[in-house]
Amino acid sequence: MATMDKISVAGLLPEELSALPGVSPQFRGKQIFKWLGNGAASFQEMRNLPQHLRDSLSETAAVRSSQIAQELRDPDGTVKLQITLHDGACIETVLLTDSSGRKTACVSCQAGCAMGCAFCQTGKLGLARNLDAAEIVEQFLYLEQVSGKLDNIVFMGMGEPMMNLSAVRKAVAVLTHPEGRGLSARRITVSTSGIIKGIYDLADNGPHMRLAVSLTTADPELRERLMPVTKGNPLPELQKAIAYYTEKSKKRCTLEAALLAGMNTGTASAERLIEFARGLDVHINLIPWNPVPGLPFAEPSAAECTAFVRLLEKARLNVTLRTRRGRKIGGACGQLGKITVE
Ligand code: SAH
Ligand code: SF4
Repeated sequence: MATMDKISVAGLLPEELSALPGVSPQFRGKQIFKWLGNGAASFQEMRNLPQHLRDSLSETAAVRSSQIAQELRDPDGTVKLQITLHDGACIETVLLTDSSGRKTACVSCQAGCAMGCAFCQTGKLGLARNLDAAEIVEQFLYLEQVSGKLDNIVFMGMGEPMMNLSAVRKAVAVLTHPEGRGLSARRITVSTSGIIKGIYDLADNGPHMRLAVSLTTADPELRERLMPVTKGNPLPELQKAIAYYTEKSKKRCTLEAALLAGMNTGTASAERLIEFARGLDVHINLIPWNPVPGLPFAEPSAAECTAFVRLLEKARLNVTLRTRRGRKIGGACGQLGKITVE
C-alpha cells in the first residue's frame, strides 16, 4: 500500500493552507478552504484559483488522503462506508437518518480501539492507530458526497475520542470554521467510555461539544468487568466530571447504556443508574445490544428493554430507547470493524 507522499489538506485551516508552497497571496488559503468545505474533490474544480496554482497543488497536495473501499446501504436508510487509509488501515463511517429525516454522520477517530470494552466489536480489534484530522474530516465529506448535506456529527464510530483529542479538536475546528463547512458546535457530539482527564480538558479548554458518556452500568464491579477503563476512572469521579462539564458548557450531557440481556437491565441495575444520575442534568440513551459474533452477550427482548425504561421513567429520568438502525450492514453501534469486503 502506498504511503502518503503528498500533503493532505482536508485537515488544514485557512492560515495553514495559505502557508503551503506556492499559495499566495494570503487570501488563496481561504478560497481553497471554502472549496474543501463545499466538498470539492480535486484542485482542478477550484475555479477561482489560477490554473498554475491548481496544477502545482495537484502535484504536491491531496484533497483526499483516504479512499472509499465499499459503500453499503441498509434498507432502513443507513449507509456505511468502508474507508482505506493511505497506509492500508481500514475504518468505517456511518450515516444515520432519523424518523424526521435528520442526517447524522457517525465518524471514527481511531482505527480500532484500545479500551477493550467486552461487548464491542471495535474493542475486539485492539488499536491499530490514531487517525489524523484530515482522515476524520474526510469521513464527513465522503458521507456528504454520497448523501447530501448532513445535520449532525457524532464521534461514536470506531475508537475513543479522548485518546486522540488533538486530532478530534483539529477536525472540529475545520468543520465548524465559519469560512468553511461552518457546522455548529451544538451539532457535534463526542462520546467517551469515561476518560475523566479528557472530560475536564474539554470542559476547561473547549470546544464545548455535546458530551455523551458510555456508562453501560453504574454498578462498579460489573462496569469494571465490562469496561476496563473503569479501573483508572472510578464512577464517583466520573460523576463529578460530568457535573463539571455540564456547568462549564451549559449543555445537558447524555449517559449511554448498551443493554445486555440479563446483565444490566434488572431492578438493581436501574436503582444504581438512578442513583448515579441523581443530581446530574442528563438524558439517558439506551441502546439494545447489537450482536457481535463470538461475544458472550445476548440481545435483550423488547419487554426487557421496556421494563427497564419504565423503572427509569418512574424515577423521573429523561430516557430514550434507541431504535435499531443499520444492523443488516454491520453499521449499528458497537458493530464497526467487521470488514466485509467481497
Ligand atoms: N468509544 C466511544 C465511542 C464509540 S462506541 C465510547 O465508547 O463511547 C459508541 C457507543 O456504542 C458506546 O456508547 C458503546 O457503549 C456502544 N456500544 C458498543 N458496543 C455495542 C454493541 N455491541 N451494541 C450496542 N451498543 C454498543
Ligand atoms: Fe472502544 Fe467505545 Fe468500543 Fe469501548 S465501546 S471498545 S471505548 S469503541
